[in-house]
Amino acid sequence: MNEFRYDLLRDEWVIIAPNRLHRPDMFYEIKEKKAKTCPFCRGNENFSEKDILRFGNPWVLRVVPNKFRSLAIENPYFFNDNKIGSYGAHEIVIDTYRHIKFFDFEKSEFVNLFKALKIRYNDLRKDNKLKHFICFKNEGIKAGATQSHPHTQILALPFIPIQIEKNLLKYKAYFDNHKKTIFEEYIKKENLIVFENSEFIALLPKASKFAFEIRIIKKNNFFDFDENNLAEVFEYLKITKKILGEIDFNLIFNFAPFEDARYFHFNIEFIPRLFNIAGGELSGIYTNVVAPEIAKKAFDDFGS
Ligand SMILES: [Zn+2]
Repeated sequence: MNEFRYDLLRDEWVIIAPNRLHRPDMFYEIKEKKAKTCPFCRGNENFSEKDILRFGNPWVLRVVPNKFRSLAIENPYFFNDNKIGSYGAHEIVIDTYRHIKFFDFEKSEFVNLFKALKIRYNDLRKDNKLKHFICFKNEGIKAGATQSHPHTQILALPFIPIQIEKNLLKYKAYFDNHKKTIFEEYIKKENLIVFENSEFIALLPKASKFAFEIRIIKKNNFFDFDENNLAEVFEYLKITKKILGEIDFNLIFNFAPFEDARYFHFNIEFIPRLFNIAGGELSGIYTNVVAPEIAKKAFDDFGS
């Protein structure tokens, strides 16, 4: 049942190819290097820069500038034909003082993280030189993490990246033509729903690029959300530990662009890094060896 499938939000085709799953070279291992001193643990504050934001005393969450930042507000702001000044922000949210895995968080730790992300989004959008907010989490070496302490990265850019802008223009045109968002249409079409509450829906996209990929979408187009409702989704997603064990993954938080964006719904991509990305993916086509219908069955089995 291999087939090409189209994803409405990404405007992209993907190959669903379960027959490729059992190739012998699909898994690989890299040993995790253990740091002697964790710069993000409580008591080691002198390893990072001064707080931008801090919750609790003693602290339970901190936001600091990235020590190895690619962008900073001290950097020049300019636009040339093929060069743009590296003006912007690059911050690290130290999600919790506890040196644990993301899916071992208590609900209050999820709540704190989502509250902090909203505060930073609302603060950075006040700078009208900044146009786009990027927020992601890498957990594990396969996902690109260089620190094992749970943390989330924020970038604020002076422009909107081309592929994202292309998608935003499409969402906007859809909204203007249909008087409803493309996300409403998407939610209506996708039926592999694993969790739902009053504010969010979590589903396995039919055209998943990655095995066990999950997309969490806010049901309406108002930016503000209740961090408790979002934390509830992640409490549910702890089930992935039962299904897949401890895995490396990326979380991508797609916040609305800083301009007025009623055509957009806040959403999150959960991307397990079970398999390596190879040349086919780098050439522009993703092959997913686990059909999302099969993944859905695993959620149903473990959820009951
Ligand atoms: Zn630590």
